[in-house]
Amino acid sequence: MHQTLNYTITMLNNIRIVLVNPSHPGNIGAVARAMKTMGLEHLYLVNPKSFPHVNATALAAGADDILERATIITSLKDALVGSEIVFGTSARLRALQLPTLDPKAAAKFIINEAKVNKISIVFGRENNGLSNEELELCNHQLYIPTNPNFSSLNIAAAVQLIAYEIKMADQIETTITTPTIDLASTEAIQSFYQHLQQTLITTKFLNLKNQNGLMAKLKRLFNRAQLEKTEINILRGILTSINTKNEND
Ligand code: SAH
Repeated sequence: MHQTLNYTITMLNNIRIVLVNPSHPGNIGAVARAMKTMGLEHLYLVNPKSFPHVNATALAAGADDILERATIITSLKDALVGSEIVFGTSARLRALQLPTLDPKAAAKFIINEAKVNKISIVFGRENNGLSNEELELCNHQLYIPTNPNFSSLNIAAAVQLIAYEIKMADQIETTITTPTIDLASTEAIQSFYQHLQQTLITTKFLNLKNQNGLMAKLKRLFNRAQLEKTEINILRGILTSINTKNEND
């Protein structure tokens, strides 16, 4: 029993909630409260408009410890450092769709992966959500099924719902059932993308006209694959062999 409990704490401890550009400090407090009620502790704030703020503390209603320990950071990329799996939440389905899960399916997946991997769940701005570039940093999309004519929840309500499903999935998960694998970090994946882009420009597969669209599609392909550390090394090795050949030609 004891062992299960410790294990459970470790899994929730590997989950990070990231808010991009929140504009209402009250919402930040409400998010902290939503997190703490469900046992989540790690809050990252990317360029919050006003924080710390008396309204954040008021709405946290006792979850001020989460606010005090929150990490304030200037870019989403930096907020994701150390995460192997990144979920982007959105009230809209996008043109270039990532694999999309509902909260229950996402929570089950997250709790299983959190045994060995760190997971970030990213939430967007109150007025216009996450940009497509920000979603490109994510490997999964989480969509809370809603009224198609009125799909946007308050950000703290969205966090509450997802955190609740995570807590429920966490309670169901008592033993190690699925062998988990050592996934590549977000930083390693981003460096691979840069290496890939540079190489494909050198080989002229990419040009100024097509590079943004093609790179977005390639990123989506690799994000879907959930690359392991060893696989990233193989892919980097392939790129290096192409670069070396080009230099020698
Ligand atoms: N108008 C914005 C909605 C912003 S709501 C948009 O079109 O995306 C603020 C944030 O709450 C969203 O960025 C998302 O992180 C979360 N959210 C709100 N409704 C959601 C839903 N139905 N599914 C998933 N996340 C949602």
